Amino acid sequence: MHLRLCALTLALLPWLAHADDTVVSPATLALHQRLLVLDSHLDTPLDLTRPGWDITQRHDYRQDGSQVDVPRMVDGGLDGGFFAVYTPQQPLTDEGRAYASAYGLATLTRIRDMIDRNPDTFALALTPEDARRIAAQGKRVVFISMENAEPLAADPALLNTYYRQGLRMLGLVHFADNELADSATALPHWKGLSPEGRQLVTEANRLGILLDVSHASDAVFDQILAQSTAPIIASHSSSRAVNPHPRNLDDGRLRQLAAKGGVVQVNTYSDYLVPLKPNPERNKALAALGARFHNLAALSPEQSHALYQDYHAIDTKYPQPKADLDVFMKHLLHILQVVGPEHVGIGADWDGGGGVTGLEDVSQLPKISQRLLDAGYSEKDLANIWGGNLLRVLQAAQDGAAKG
Ligand SMILES: [Zn+2]
Repeated sequence: MHLRLCALTLALLPWLAHADDTVVSPATLALHQRLLVLDSHLDTPLDLTRPGWDITQRHDYRQDGSQVDVPRMVDGGLDGGFFAVYTPQQPLTDEGRAYASAYGLATLTRIRDMIDRNPDTFALALTPEDARRIAAQGKRVVFISMENAEPLAADPALLNTYYRQGLRMLGLVHFADNELADSATALPHWKGLSPEGRQLVTEANRLGILLDVSHASDAVFDQILAQSTAPIIASHSSSRAVNPHPRNLDDGRLRQLAAKGGVVQVNTYSDYLVPLKPNPERNKALAALGARFHNLAALSPEQSHALYQDYHAIDTKYPQPKADLDVFMKHLLHILQVVGPEHVGIGADWDGGGGVTGLEDVSQLPKISQRLLDAGYSEKDLANIWGGNLLRVLQAAQDGAAKG
């Protein structure tokens, strides 16, 4: 059972952290700051719901668990990325579908409002060319993606509305199976895609929306890869060879993804990076907490505080191993070895549970560049890993639409 509670995992790191000794040299920092650095999975729209929380101001993850804001993006050289319209999976009922539909549109609006209220800081990117232009202007690049297509379940034609409002990447499913596809972390229901899911893949190809297979079951991965007329992405996934978690990708599928021109963006979500011990009591306690705080977007400040407190209590009572930067690098370097530096990027799941000890927020991204250089990767490799590959696969999806 998973519980997705903004950056709660990160909020606990001060209690658990040991110092990471990666020293970023001035030359590496200068190189990193020169590159176009994008992250393919930002859950920061969840933070935008917090009363009084202002993304243009500096925050401290040790205080509020947040991992992305403009001052820390500047520090860490993060030019922007895909801001996710994430919707918690609802019951498969008319009521659940209506709720998801409204929830998705509210999140989309929140992202658009963030841009509109800060026109000197953010700009909406619709194409790879937009991203390069916006970053060159010194603004932050905002692409929009969808994680869990449940908001489209009641009316799949809404995909066109989302597209016209800026959606450029689509993941069909999250922690649980839905009407469209099976999840990596649930029992198979459709044995892959449902008929509606297949239709949505066709429609995404037609519009030039990049298809995202993170969170999808292996069967869904295989079926999307076979059906899609454009290369696909795993926007936040790690290596199953390094840690056998169903959310990670095995070497065979990594190679198939790359062979069709796709890219895997490596995740920093600790629970996927290190083996967890079976802990039914912890799972039960987290499930009960998740049921109490089901609608994260509607929590009052008092409820948010209570949620942090209760999560901390559960994590202290039933602790699990936490990944550090070394473990994340093991996943990243393994995947680089399997598919090569033209098919790898970073999708760290910031503000959605991502972050490891030693890499707690986006201000620390230059450490990854230092580690990659130390491992023998070139400036050109880093340029591809930090954004070049992501933009290439997005361009391929958009070119596919133009041809269709
Ligand atoms: Zn996710």
